[in-house]
Parts: sequence; C-alpha cells; structure tokens
Amino acid sequence: MLAMQLERPGQPLQPSRRPDPDPGPGQVLIRVACCGVCRTDLHIVDGELPALDHPVVPGHEIVGRVTARGSGVDHPAVGDRVGVPWLGWTCGECEACQAGRENLCVRARFTGYHLDGGYADLALADARYVFALPDRYDDQQAAPLLCSGLIGYRALRLAGPAQRLGIYGFGAAAHVIAQVARHQGRDLFAFTRPGDHKAQQFALELGAAWAGGSDQPPPRPLDAALIFAPVGALVPVALKALAPGGTVVCAGIHMSDIPAFPYSILWQERRIVSVANLTRKDGDEFMALAAQVPIQAHTETWPLSRANEALAALREGRLQGAAVVRPDA
Ligand SMILES: [Zn+2]
Ligand SMILES: [Zn+2]
Repeated sequence: MLAMQLERPGQPLQPSRRPDPDPGPGQVLIRVACCGVCRTDLHIVDGELPALDHPVVPGHEIVGRVTARGSGVDHPAVGDRVGVPWLGWTCGECEACQAGRENLCVRARFTGYHLDGGYADLALADARYVFALPDRYDDQQAAPLLCSGLIGYRALRLAGPAQRLGIYGFGAAAHVIAQVARHQGRDLFAFTRPGDHKAQQFALELGAAWAGGSDQPPPRPLDAALIFAPVGALVPVALKALAPGGTVVCAGIHMSDIPAFPYSILWQERRIVSVANLTRKDGDEFMALAAQVPIQAHTETWPLSRANEALAALREGRLQGAAVVRPDA
C-alpha cells in the first residue's frame, strides 16, 4: 500500500510503500475511498502541534469500506461503508470518560496524529469509533462531514440558540456549518479575510444575510460568533461584534496568541469558549442531522500521491470549500 507520511514536522509528506496491515483485536481494516484534508493536518505537518517521536500518516476524515475485521468485532460488517473521525481511541476510565466527556479524555489517541490516518490506500481503525454515513452522500461529499462538519457542529451547539450567528474564517468547516445553521433558521453573518470577495460571494450563495471582511463590524450585534480561522487576533474582534450575553466559540485546535483586550468588551456576560475534539455521541447526532439537512459540500480532489499540493492549497487560502485526497487510480 501507499501511505503519505510525515517524517518530521516542517517537511513535506513522503510517499512510503508498506505491506498491507492486518487488523488486530477490535480493529477493522478499511480500503480508503477518500480522505478529507483538515486544517489540523496542516497544524501537524507545519509543527504547530506537539511533535510526535514517530512518523505519522495524517488524515482523519476517512471514508472507506471495511475489508477485514480483527477478533472480537461484530460491527461493522465486511463491505460496510464507514467514516473514521479524529477521535480514534479513549481510555474509558479517566474522570472525563466517566463523565461522558470522552472528547477530553487524558489518554485519548487521535486519528492521523497518534494513530496512522487516511492519507493512504488502507487504514486501520478501532471498530467502536467508526461511524455509519448517511446514504445520501457519496464518498467525496461525506468526507468533510467527518471533521469540518462534526467539530463545526459541536461549535455550533456551544453557541446555544443564537439567532444572529457570525462565522469568522469561511473555509471547509464554515461552509458546512453555514448550511446547518440556515437549515435551523438562524441568520448568518460571514467574515472573511479583508478583501476576499470570492469567499464573501461564496458565503452569500450559501445563504448568509451579510458577508464582509473581518475588519468590518456586522450590521447588527451577534448573539454568537464561531471562529474557524486560527487567528487569535479575531477573538477581541469577535467579542466587539457580540450583543450582551453573547458567546465567542473558538473551534480550532490551534490558534495564534490572543492579544490583550479591554475588559469592557467581555463585560455584560459575554463568554469565550473553545471546542476540543468530539464524542461519539456528537458523531451520531451530527450524522442523523446531516441525513436531514442536505449539505452540499464543495470539494476539490487531489490524488493521494499529490497530498502535499492539497495541503499547500489550504495553507495558502486557495480553496473554496474542502480538499479531499483519493488513492491514485
Ligand atoms: Zn479517558
Ligand atoms: Zn479535523
């Protein structure tokens, strides 16, 4: 099999030929149909997350079909289409796990980071952590649901019942969550890099009531703002755009430092929260919702062997929607 692996952060992924793996106890072997490219992959490749002491195959938006099962697996079946998300394994024993917050498990292992991911022809996964995917989505459409959609959904839930919802950073997650938010009847305000009229037009096409640069105030104060861009300077900007009682949700795994800001923009019960990872319950809830919404994922596809080009397009902000890599024909 071919896997694109990161040997050292800061370097391009290297193609690596490996023997096909065998599933261990509790695992399924999956033939990868495609794998979404998430900003977290970029943070790992660029060394913005703690480096690991072993090479890693990125990719945690895996769509594929089960080709073999290890001992003790009775679900999913061989031939089933499954999705593999970021949450790859949890201990089940720590305080967070016991409290139903496995997203905060202290020993959690993540796909495409601690565990080899989906930038490969084949992938192994713990059978208990894979999802069934709604039939209405083809493989390529389903891939961005697995992280952009799922973590975006967790961020949206933390925003509470906000009617006027701002989104900062209009990439893969935003374009999925915008459609969910519109489906829920929320009013959407999209903030892009200043001058990025193409992204603003894209947001308006997806039902935003208003789109502008992040240097502009919204026409009306927001009840909540989701920040998908990894830019800490947006936190005080978003706080200033909030109505009293509003919430800023930071949805990324990494963000540049947040600059100091006056207490007055936090005052009046405004809140700042972050979103970390996902639980399997989030996944089940979101996939049930995605079966209803019809989400149109805009995707651009690269062959697996050219995964570095997909990462470069994301790094340089050249994507509209989500990038997906697919094993070479
Ligand atoms: Zn745990
Ligand atoms: Zn992700």
